[in-house]
Amino acid sequence: MNKVIIFSAPSGAGKSTIVNHILGLHPEMEFSISATSRAPRGSEQDGVEYYFFSEQEFRDLIAKDSFVEYEEVYPGSFYGTLKSEVERIWAKGHVIVFDIDVKGGVNMKRIFGDKALSIFIKAPSVEELRRRLQGRGTDSPEAIERRVAKAQSETEFAKGRFDHVLVNDDLQRAFAEAERIVSEFIAK
Ligand code: 5GP
Repeated sequence: MNKVIIFSAPSGAGKSTIVNHILGLHPEMEFSISATSRAPRGSEQDGVEYYFFSEQEFRDLIAKDSFVEYEEVYPGSFYGTLKSEVERIWAKGHVIVFDIDVKGGVNMKRIFGDKALSIFIKAPSVEELRRRLQGRGTDSPEAIERRVAKAQSETEFAKGRFDHVLVNDDLQRAFAEAERIVSEFIAK
């Protein structure tokens, strides 16, 4: 059966670290490269981290019904999964790994049903989340408070809507739990 694994999390929960760990352990899994209308950051390359489009190009793709799902994750910045990306990965017989925002994760689970395992990753507490965001040193205090508030509302929204909630209190423990959940799903 074609399968998908969905990882969603508020920012600062450690989602990318956990997703990369799982991908490193499983050659039969492949990361779904999303389309986005935001500009590339740093060393990001088209077709590696994302497929980069202008806002107009992205809107044209929406009009052509090219997406499985898409969201305006930040004002003016669209992110979405192209139907062609799902076909590309399934054609190789690989399990698709999605790293998408919380609303997108809930939509994906609804779309793929039993083919999907959805995992919500959260920081152990609001204080810890704030500490991690401060540690990154990339956001102003106001931006950190905005992210913390968004994380709280996303965590509230996620309740009961994901197959698993993974608390990232200790990275090694979270790795082990993620691996256990994922392996069980793959073996089904
Ligand atoms: P960033 O700009 O930091 O790379 O990503 C911002 C957010 O967009 C992250 O939470 C990421 O998971 C989410 N995202 C990436 N791709 C998709 C997608 O295809 N659909 C949705 N709904 N969210 C996505």
